[in-house]
Amino acid sequence: MAAKNCHNDYKMKFSVDEEFPDLSLHNNHMAKVLTKDIYNKLRGKSTPSGFTVDDIIQTGVDNPGHPFIMTVGCVAGDEESYEVFKDLLDPIISDRHSGYKATDKHKTDLNFENLKASSSLRRHVASRVTLLFGQGGDDLDPNYVLSTRVRTGRSLKGFTLPPHCSRGERRGIEKLSIEALASLEGEFKGKYYPLDGMTDAEQDQLINDHFLFDKPVSPLLTCAGMARDWPDARGIWHNDNKTFLVWVNEEDHLRVISMQKGGNMKEVFRRFCVGLQKIEAIFKKHNHGFSWNEHLGYILTCPSNLGTGLRGGVHVKLPKLSTHAKFEEILTRLRLQKRGTGGVDTASVGGVFDISNADRLGSSEVDQVQMVVDGVKLMVEMEKKLEKGESIDGMIPAQK
Ligand code: ADP
Ligand code: MG
Repeated sequence: MAAKNCHNDYKMKFSVDEEFPDLSLHNNHMAKVLTKDIYNKLRGKSTPSGFTVDDIIQTGVDNPGHPFIMTVGCVAGDEESYEVFKDLLDPIISDRHSGYKATDKHKTDLNFENLKASSSLRRHVASRVTLLFGQGGDDLDPNYVLSTRVRTGRSLKGFTLPPHCSRGERRGIEKLSIEALASLEGEFKGKYYPLDGMTDAEQDQLINDHFLFDKPVSPLLTCAGMARDWPDARGIWHNDNKTFLVWVNEEDHLRVISMQKGGNMKEVFRRFCVGLQKIEAIFKKHNHGFSWNEHLGYILTCPSNLGTGLRGGVHVKLPKLSTHAKFEEILTRLRLQKRGTGGVDTASVGGVFDISNADRLGSSEVDQVQMVVDGVKLMVEMEKKLEKGESIDGMIPAQK
């Protein structure tokens, strides 16, 4: 496991050539963007809390990546990283977020009532089928959609981020979170469970039930310094029926999750928006609002999550469509991504996939969830067509 903040000031005694990392075998956004010129300009700088460009890129240097899987290859150590190191981070953000420019402004919309019945879908399927669709994502077919989930991350102002935070900061975040979340009521009333107060069996059960983050085994996380002191000050808070959950001190200060069995995205998104706004108000009262700005939206550890930080998705059975030659193209056109059901980097089992929004930055929470509702509805209809042995050629969507 890589140690962290191991970049001492003696590095400035060496030339750029002597210090520049070997990125010749790398395939990640950082390696694509980082030149000796950019490195030279940034290598003597640090944020007020002491994060440097070498700390930012270390995970991407240590993990060259995979020819087909493009990782980001860097992390932020604090909110100021995005400003101090923008010569590196702005082009990475643009590369990762479909050309998002340094002057672009992000949109936030957490009004769940703005979710609509699918309109684009009407153009692509027969009207007979359209009549079966309800309003705003409350009717994804539960015979195909097994479970539905929306998550985001949030950073608390005034603390450095998980790749960089001290033990004291991390414990401070946990203490604040326990106090804040304890004041939630009604459907949001719940309890905090620290990792170090759990048996291995209890932890494994929560992971297997898809409620808890995995142990930090991925080198992408460990090389970014996010597993330091594990499991100190990490834990999960959840409401009594495990439909609203908050992870504390994993990849972000907070990960806020709404989930339930079946296909009612409208209800999952409602609970997500309402709960999230309640939490934000409580943290503000404790003088720690969430880090946000007009350009980047919510500021998070991984540049891939900037913007909404939202991943809204379903576990959906698509055994036929997923083996169709056009599956990948359909996902791309619908601006969706796929994962296995065990989470990121896992494989699909039995044709069940985790399908979620691909975009995070430049469009709102409502837009991104709408993309999932519309896309999943269409894909389920395609699956049904294929079951009947019919062609889906006439249903292939245009690029969104
Ligand atoms: P993220 O980092 O976006 O929260 P991961 O891919 O790391 O997501 O998965 C975290 C956990 O959430 C895993 O256990 C995964 O199975 C679970 N999960 C993700 N989407 C769903 C879903 N739609 N239904 C049930 N569980 C889900
Ligand atoms: Mg994750």
